[in-house]
Amino acid sequence: SSFDQMGLKEELVRGIYAYNFEKPSAIQQRAIGPITSGRDVIAQAQSGTGKTATFSISVLQTIDTALRETQALILSPTRELATQIQSVVLALGDYMNVQCHACIGGTSIGDDIRKLDYGQHVVSGTPGRVYDMIRRKNLRTRHIKMLVLDEADEMLSRGFKDQIYDVYRYLPPSTQVVLLSATLPHDVLEMTQKFMTDPIRVLV
Ligand code: AMP
Repeated sequence: SSFDQMGLKEELVRGIYAYNFEKPSAIQQRAIGPITSGRDVIAQAQSGTGKTATFSISVLQTIDTALRETQALILSPTRELATQIQSVVLALGDYMNVQCHACIGGTSIGDDIRKLDYGQHVVSGTPGRVYDMIRRKNLRTRHIKMLVLDEADEMLSRGFKDQIYDVYRYLPPSTQVVLLSATLPHDVLEMTQKFMTDPIRVLV
C-alpha cells in the first residue's frame, strides 16, 4: 500500500512525500481510510507508531482550506506535544495553504485572540487553554467537523477530564471523534461511550 492509493488530495500527497515519508506505517494503513471516510476511530497506539501523522493526514484530508474557520480541533496533554503536532500539520500541509495554531497555556492570550480572529483551519492545543478560547468566543466551534483526542489516557491522568467534557459540549453534535491512547482504562472507555458513535477500533 502507498500514500497515493489512499484517495488523498494531490497537494496533501505531495506534502507527505516532501516530508520524506515513503510508505504508510501499520497504523496509517489501517486508520487513515476509516477516519477519512468519516468513521469514529479508537486507535490504541503508542508513540513511535506514526500516530501523529495518522491523524494529521486525516485532518488535512477533511478540512476545506477555502473556508477560513476552525474545522478540526486536536487536544493533547502537554504544551510540547501540542506544538509538535502543529508543526507536523504545517509540514504535511505545506502545499495546502493551511493555517494551524497551537493554543496552549503559558503563551500570550492576545496572540491567541489575534490568530484565532484571523481564522485557523486547525487548532492543536491543551484542554485548558482551548476551553478558555471557546468560552471567550475567539475559537468559533460552528464549523468543527473533527475532534482528535491524542494520548487520551495521559490527558485524563493529568486531570483534564472536566475541561475535555466542557470543550466537547461546545462542538456540533455531528462532530467526528478520533481517539488515540496507549492504554484503554475505564475513564477513557467512558469517554469513548459518551463522545463516539459506533467506533472502529484499531490496535497496533
Ligand atoms: P509518532 O508515533 O507520531 O510519535 O511518530 C514517530 C516517528 O515516526 C516520527 O518521527 C515520524 O516522523 C515518523 N513517521 C511517521 N510516519 C512515518 C512514515 N510513514 N514513514 C516514515 N516515518 C514516519
